[in-house]
Parts: sequence; structure tokens; C-alpha cells
Amino acid sequence: MTVKKQLSIEFLGAAKTVTGSRILVKYNGYQFLIDCGLFQGPKQIRIKNWEDFIDADKIHSVILTHAHIDHSGYLPKFVKEGFRGKVFASAGTVDLCKILLTDSAHLQEEDAKYLNKKRATHFHPAKPLYTVEDAEQAISLLVPVSKDEWHELTEGISFRLLRSGHILGSTFVQLSYTTGNGQKIITFSGDIGHDRQNVIKGPVIIKESDVLILEGTYGDRVQSKVDAADELEPIIKSTLNRGGVVVIPAFAVGRAQEILFLISKLEREKRIPSVPVYLDSPMSINATDIYMKYRDELRLTFNGDHFDYPLCPQQFQAVRSVDESMLVTMQDGPFIVVSAAGMLTGGRILHHLRKRLPEAKNSVIFVGFQVEETKGRLLQQGLPKIRIHKQLIDVEAEIHSISSLSAHGDSNDIIDWVRRFNKKPSIIYLNHGEPAALNALKYRLETELGLKVEVPDQGGKYIIE
Ligand SMILES: [Zn+2]
Repeated sequence: MTVKKQLSIEFLGAAKTVTGSRILVKYNGYQFLIDCGLFQGPKQIRIKNWEDFIDADKIHSVILTHAHIDHSGYLPKFVKEGFRGKVFASAGTVDLCKILLTDSAHLQEEDAKYLNKKRATHFHPAKPLYTVEDAEQAISLLVPVSKDEWHELTEGISFRLLRSGHILGSTFVQLSYTTGNGQKIITFSGDIGHDRQNVIKGPVIIKESDVLILEGTYGDRVQSKVDAADELEPIIKSTLNRGGVVVIPAFAVGRAQEILFLISKLEREKRIPSVPVYLDSPMSINATDIYMKYRDELRLTFNGDHFDYPLCPQQFQAVRSVDESMLVTMQDGPFIVVSAAGMLTGGRILHHLRKRLPEAKNSVIFVGFQVEETKGRLLQQGLPKIRIHKQLIDVEAEIHSISSLSAHGDSNDIIDWVRRFNKKPSIIYLNHGEPAALNALKYRLETELGLKVEVPDQGGKYIIE
């Protein structure tokens, strides 16, 4: 008797929430994960990273959609628990993971140190979720694979990676597998980008897929279509004209590169004066170098072999050392500084803000979402004073927020992307989104496209023939 081959999927993270993406796939005794993400955000969510997960040593491999920590950041813990298989990803994702996983491990170690110092923990001593050594071991398991081609996982099942246009290296993952009813294809969207990013190319169109696992972070929103350059121009221009400093907190991967491009564009079009532009974040500098390495993924046109053009403004300066960073904080304007962390949760950005916030001639421009209770959100709410490094700082500088720079496709983008499938999936599973966003997207997919949609719970398991 032959055993009927079937594929099963289990949603072990990012079900009705936006972090901790992990989907377990089983096929004929072969077990692997699509993404291995960290739960991020408030404590009650982060605590899930400490809970028992599946038997790591029984998992044969992992395939990553992209390098963001909510899709890759659990890997070092998984390795610590005994996982020794291969981790397949695009070459760009592998390169970005090397810097992001190491940075994540540093943050875990710092958090533990801080809790021990404060004695703000029930566990003495507090231990990091994982260490830099664990991250290095996870990095050693990464295997870059070419995009667009099928790669065999085990007999009867292959995978391929297709550009998803979210960040550099980001891909959809497709599985092609044999069942009792012939060959089938299942597609995992990871995070979907859109066609309005300036630096990287948009998502490719999928021709057919029998089943689709789809993200819905912005499933209930349509983003502002205002050109970000138009939003930035008046703020930057007036700040520089009064001799002020423009401080832009930005995430190291994706947002920082978009911002550099926009500043460079405004400068080339003579819409703002040319001033020094400091990128004060070693991680952003390294990420930018990786972006420049994968030109086939970029929209940018290059002037011969000149690497920096057109991402870097004329007076661009990469600030690597702490001493150089301190010099920038002491300098008088006009100039622009782009620094991390994007939500002011730590890093060099805090030194710049401590110096620049008390003066009305300066401005701060937020270009990414600010989570509740972060310093970023407090500044957006217009607080007159803010605590930085134990010091109460007056907020006199202008505070602005730019809304049109998300790397996620919105509700219209996702619907349009699915609409362009030649052969529509027979079922769609929605994950990676808050319940309201997923339900809104479900409604649109059902009513506008006539598709069958499920919203799985955490732990939801489905047998797919
Ligand atoms: Zn992402």
C-alpha cells in the first residue's frame, strides 16, 4: 500500500498578530519552517519567545522570506535549542541577517545586563534570550540560494524564491510538491512590498498558486499616496534656512536608504540646499553597502561604476566611530543627520535629540511607525519635556511625521496583487496582521474577488492535499 502524500501547515506565530512569523510545514516525514521570527513589542508578547517551541532537533530546514527580525530573529534561540539544519534564503537576505542577527543578540545581552543592574527581574541573574555566540552559530547555517529557480528540499518537494519588493532580498516562498492528485503549488507571501518605493523594485506577479498564505499588516488601510519628497521638502528647507539641524530617526534597513535617496533627489533637483548629510549608525552604513551590492534588485540607475550615486547626497558622510558621532553632536547647523534606533529605543539618535530638541530652529522628522509608550510616540504626542539619559530635556524643536514611507503594501496593493494571478488560489490563509486588519482584508478578498479565506488562530493546523 502506498502512503498518500500530503502537506500540512501549522501557524506557530504571527497568527492574528504582526510579529513572530513561524509556519511549520510537514511533507512525507520532512519537517521545515517558513520563517523563524522573534515576537516583538510589549512584554506580554515578547514573553512568548521564552515559551516552549517545537523540538528543534527534529526540524530539517528553515526557509526565510526576508531578514527582518520578526521573520528571522528567533533563529539563534532555535539553534540554541538544538536546530542544526540548513537555513535557505536569498543572498541579500543572508547578508542582511548577518548584521541584524548579531545586532539582535547584542540587544538581548544588553537587556539582560540592564535588568540585572536594576534588579528589575524575578529571575536572578537575568539571562539573555540568546548571545552573540548563538547568533554566530545561526549565521553559519545560512545558505544563499538563487532566486526564481526551483531547489529540491527532499524527494517530491521543491521551493523557489521570488522577489516580494518589501526590503532588499525579500522574497515570496513557493513550494511545488507531489500529491495523490498531481503537482501542487503553495505560496507564502512573507511581507509584501509595493511599487512606490524609490530604492528597491516592487513585487513580481505570481501566475498561479493552489494555496496562498497572505500577510495583512495593512489589510484595513489605504496609505497616503502623497509623494514623500513633497512632504520632506518644506520641512528640510525651512530648517536649513534658519541654520538648524534636521534629525531623522530611521530604521537601519530599508527606511534609512529611502531617506538618503529622497534627500539626494531633493538636492539634485535643487529643491533644498546642499549641506552635510551624516548617516550616524554603523548598522545603517553596513546595510547601505549591502543594498549597493545587489543592483539587480534596485530601481536606481547608476552613473557608470560610481557606487554612491544616486543614493548618497553630495556632502554625504558615513559616521562609524563613537568619537566622530560625538563631534557631529557638537557641530553647528545647518546639516542633516540620519540615525538609529528608528523608535528612539536606544542608540546614537538619543545623543542627537538631547542636543537638538531644546532649540526651536531644529526639527525632528519621524519616517516610520512609532509604537505606543516609546519616546518616539511621546514626542509625536507633543510632550513639552522628555527624559533622555536620566535628564529632562525641553522640547522646543519642531516635530514632524511623514506618513507615506511604509515598506508594506496596503489593502489596495494586496488586492491588486492577488487579482493579477492567472489562476486564483482555491483557499487563502491570512496571517501577520491584527485581527481588525485581517478581517477587513478577508471581506475584500471574498466580496471583490470571490475567494475562500480563512484567518487561522495561533497553533491552527491545516492539512492541504
Ligand atoms: Zn518585514
